[in-house]
Amino acid sequence: MASLPDAGRMDAIGERAAQTAMDQLQFTKGTADVMVITNAGRAVVDGQTTERAVAGITRISGLQNGDSTLWIVNRAVWKPLWFYFYNKQTGKGLYLEPDTSFYTKSSADIAAIPAAATFSTNTLVTGDLNQMLANTEVGNKTMKDLGGNSGVVTIANAWAHGAPYDLLSAVMLHNHLCPGLLGGYLPIKYVEKVLPITDSTSSYTYITTSTSCKEDAYPILWDITPGKGGAIMKTLSEADAKILTEKYGTSPRGIVVRWDSKTKTGTGIVFGSVTQTTSTPYTGPEWGAKPYSVLKAMDTITQPELSVKTLRKFTIDAVSFATLKSSDNPYRVIGDL
Ligand SMILES: [Zn+2]
Repeated sequence: MASLPDAGRMDAIGERAAQTAMDQLQFTKGTADVMVITNAGRAVVDGQTTERAVAGITRISGLQNGDSTLWIVNRAVWKPLWFYFYNKQTGKGLYLEPDTSFYTKSSADIAAIPAAATFSTNTLVTGDLNQMLANTEVGNKTMKDLGGNSGVVTIANAWAHGAPYDLLSAVMLHNHLCPGLLGGYLPIKYVEKVLPITDSTSSYTYITTSTSCKEDAYPILWDITPGKGGAIMKTLSEADAKILTEKYGTSPRGIVVRWDSKTKTGTGIVFGSVTQTTSTPYTGPEWGAKPYSVLKAMDTITQPELSVKTLRKFTIDAVSFATLKSSDNPYRVIGDL
């Protein structure tokens, strides 16, 4: 028989997750050295929403989103509830999944059980990527232990190496942090530098000719969402793509127009990637390649101009702008093809 919803139950589970993590990862309330990633607030377990677990975590550990130490990651509602705490001082992580019997226990029953016994999965891992890569056996074990949620390793390591709040916000929507998402984040930060918006009547229009992980940065950073029209997606023919690549010496990655709705004028750029000077090739385990590349990117995350460049700048009037948005081939409209 399903139990009645108990407002205190999820709160208690969150508190217990925090207590267990503070014991096992050895930290005190309010530390800036620890972060937690969870799908609490997204998961619905035994018919109960789980957002109160977030309140419980913050009350006990002080970890909170405003300090960038608590992040709620996007997962489907039917996925099991989990918590991953990471201590950047020790490089240790703790992965917890509640014993599902707790979803029907009363607060009184819960109170009689030790905090650590709340979790049927309670796994301490080496979560520091450099430590994992230095000892592949250790790294393999962490990846195996975290299984389907091993993406938390990259997120936690990027956080430990200074991932900005807006990037982590985009990661929460995308549900993982991959080089692909950075392929959206970096052009956005680049455009904000070279075509800044400084008034209330301008906005960005983003036109792309390929769909990949990168698109998931735009809803968060620029509020460009599918529901409100979204990014404009066009598919170029192979022949056209070849002409553009020959023209620019690199394949264009997209077009952004800064449109001023008051003056009815726009300035746009075609942007592409800076050719990277050859660095030492990655030779570690397969699971580490993308996380390693993300971690390296954190060193220069505030310098998007190191990886993105303007291939062409143009101005545009209202008629051409309307054509640009509706055309099958945006590059033809701006005279590139
Ligand atoms: Zn991705």
